[in-house]
Amino acid sequence: NKQIERDAVFRKKYNIHVSGANVPSPLRTFAELSSRFGCESYLLRNLAEHGYKEPTPIQRQAIPVLLSDRECFACAPTGSGKTLAFLCPMLMKLRCASKDGIRAVILCPTRELATQTTRECKKLAKGNKFQIKLMKKELVRSTDLSKFSCDILISTPLRLRLAIRRKKIDLSRVEYLVLDEADKLFEVGNLLKHIDPVVKACSNPSIVRSLFSATLPDFVEELARSIMHDAVRVIVGRKN
Ligand code: ADP
Ligand code: MG
Repeated sequence: NKQIERDAVFRKKYNIHVSGANVPSPLRTFAELSSRFGCESYLLRNLAEHGYKEPTPIQRQAIPVLLSDRECFACAPTGSGKTLAFLCPMLMKLRCASKDGIRAVILCPTRELATQTTRECKKLAKGNKFQIKLMKKELVRSTDLSKFSCDILISTPLRLRLAIRRKKIDLSRVEYLVLDEADKLFEVGNLLKHIDPVVKACSNPSIVRSLFSATLPDFVEELARSIMHDAVRVIVGRKN
């Protein structure tokens, strides 16, 4: 109970609002990734190397939620560090490189965002052997993708949907699915219709889904409700 009170005080200080049952304690420092969650040294080294000294508010709360295998519905303003909030737990949960199918998928609304996220992911994974791949146009055009495999696949919704429909890409082993910049899925053209087929193709029953957004228009709320069932809601910067 003391801990619950301390967590509440800490969240208030950083303007973090949560809802859901048994929300894990927020991160006080990146070092807690190691002391609380057993993270490998390469990750802390890469965080330090890139000048990430302490977690941003969204990272403080979303990282422990995802590390506890809980679905996460996260909202924090643009520039508040949402990318790291899903990349850190993803790299930690995947632990090491594997040749066993596609293990994590990140959907970004535009190619530019997908490219940036891929770059950030490779930076953070440096020193590990993770296979991190951006779904390129050539790849979708290429032959059969049924044997395509990587640890983390980053794509726009349309390209991934084409890869599912025409090239039989296999997403049945995906353990983590992230919908990033969900509010832009609508802004940049109606991409929502491509989300559902991707979510369905990621048919692993123990998948952990999460959704990140800078704002919370109604369609984002609806999307979150339709793809997640027991998500912890983490909102930074305003009341939920
Ligand atoms: P968002 O997706 O919320 O708009 P980004 O994940 O793109 O934000 O991060 C915005 C910027 O903040 C990036 O340049 C990133 O490198 C930087 N950043 C992220 N996390 C931290 C941190 N913990 N400390 C310092 N800078 C950070
Ligand atoms: Mg972002």
